[in-house]
Amino acid sequence: MSAQIIKINGPLVVCDRPDLFSMSERVAVGEAGLIGEVIRIEPEFAAVQVYEDTTGLHLGEPVQGSGGALSVELGPGLLGEIFDGIQRPLPELFEKCGDFIGRGMAVPALDRKRKWPFKPQLRAGMEVAGGAVVGSVRETSVITHKILLPPAATGRVIDIKPKGTYRVDEPVARLRTAEGRELDVCMLQRWPVRIKRPVRARLAPDRPLITGQRIIDTFFPIARGGTAAIPGGFGTGKTVTQHNLAKWCDADIIVYIGCGERGNEMTGVVREFPQLKDPRSGKPLIERTVMIANTSNMPVAAREASIYTGITIAEYFRDQGFDVALMADSTSRWAEALREISGRLEEMPAEEGFPAYLPTRTAEFYERAGRVQTLAGGFGSVSAIGAVSPPGGDFSEPVTLHTRRFVKSYWALDKELANARFFPAINPLESHSEYSEDLAAWWSEIDADWRRNRDEAMRYLLRAAQLSQVVRIMGEEGLPDAERKVLIAASLIRDAFLQQSAFSELDRYASPQKQARMLALVMKVARAIEADIAPAAEMAKKYRIPELIRLKDEVPSDRLQALDAWLR
Ligand code: ADP
Repeated sequence: MSAQIIKINGPLVVCDRPDLFSMSERVAVGEAGLIGEVIRIEPEFAAVQVYEDTTGLHLGEPVQGSGGALSVELGPGLLGEIFDGIQRPLPELFEKCGDFIGRGMAVPALDRKRKWPFKPQLRAGMEVAGGAVVGSVRETSVITHKILLPPAATGRVIDIKPKGTYRVDEPVARLRTAEGRELDVCMLQRWPVRIKRPVRARLAPDRPLITGQRIIDTFFPIARGGTAAIPGGFGTGKTVTQHNLAKWCDADIIVYIGCGERGNEMTGVVREFPQLKDPRSGKPLIERTVMIANTSNMPVAAREASIYTGITIAEYFRDQGFDVALMADSTSRWAEALREISGRLEEMPAEEGFPAYLPTRTAEFYERAGRVQTLAGGFGSVSAIGAVSPPGGDFSEPVTLHTRRFVKSYWALDKELANARFFPAINPLESHSEYSEDLAAWWSEIDADWRRNRDEAMRYLLRAAQLSQVVRIMGEEGLPDAERKVLIAASLIRDAFLQQSAFSELDRYASPQKQARMLALVMKVARAIEADIAPAAEMAKKYRIPELIRLKDEVPSDRLQALDAWLR
């Protein structure tokens, strides 16, 4: 039995027979079977968000329920793949339909023909519960995928397949449940995207996610399992920063969501990413990456789905005990999709036309990050890093403001810094991190003075910012020598420490050791300058400041002895 379309409004379709559907149910819309999701049920009608182009759809065409929620497929084959927002593998779609993706194209997310080398870990007779490790599959040369029992499955193992190659939809184990039912377990499992996957416990963050970017790790760190936002106007470095993090951060698995940036830009990412080399293994980075790409020629609604598809996949790898880093570029496009659908639903708009539930949705997304004890008893984490693109670079717009409320690290990109080619263009006075306290203990293992150095460096930057107000009015000549030295110390911190080019062979990644040593060095010189009684004009030469500034690009992370002479 199916319902009939009674209204079509862009990606929003309204149909009769609301009694046939449940909220978030996946439906097939029209004769073409376009993929949609029920987003509202009223006594008279049901509203469906359609994830494909609705051009050519007619009133009266059928809407067919699937009985299940919009879900993702989880199992071997995720890594290295590029999916669209509703988890259709893009290379396969392109192969089937060329650049213009046909509508209603149902391509399974995970390849049903490919066989994977499975190694069992359970034995017959064992009592097992959801999340238990059934076996493993070496999915790529760098990642061994753990096959997990779906969270709700429990029972006694009555059969387990021997080591061998199997397809994702072939049973590899059979359980007898407490009710006496038999349950086949495949490598593939499904999970509804809008529901977070269960864990045994959520834990407080205690270790940094090291990104190799000094301004982030030292000044505004993110914890493993933490949340961060990178707001910035056009051209300030959101994408370069996200790429840098994907490439260098010390997570095991990367989930990269390219959420409806301009079409050609996204194709660039899709083409470039598979070619990036993993600096740690020397293998292609894509071997431990899952990409989700919505190009702008895909309907807006698909952007909405891509965020949930991405975070659900991230949780699934977390449940295997991995540290996962998820990057979403840009979450503003997702918020715009929410606004568009909400407008079509004629909901009462809140600020700037965004729906009143924008803050709740944003909070729910970032809440799915975290460090956890998994159902199997292991530990894993999802760190979520979202770029935000405020129109006109105005950080007082709703998406930036709400995101700022819900993330704990906030890296504000600054147009002026970017224009001055000072990269990363993160403004230290507008940025913050709530993890600094939690992570100080970790850093003090590397350098006992780390905390003092960092806090003092921050104070120099603040004092310099205040002084530059004075300079703006009176010129630098109006400042007493002591204060000019503060300005010199602060620019030393900026130029020798904060500035870090993504294109510098030796410096695009700085190990925590390199960061701590350079900070110690820069702060040693900064203090000496402030205490020096010679005229400010002599400082640059006396302390070899130009040489100091070059050091970062000359000393590799694994040859820090070169800094020792300076530190003595
Ligand atoms: P956005 O995504 O915010 O529009 P991009 O990430 O594309 O901006 O950055 C714009 C340009 O700024 C880059 O092409 C690059 O030249 C420069 N840039 C940004 N970040 C860095 C960095 N960390 N190091 C060196 N150059 C950078």
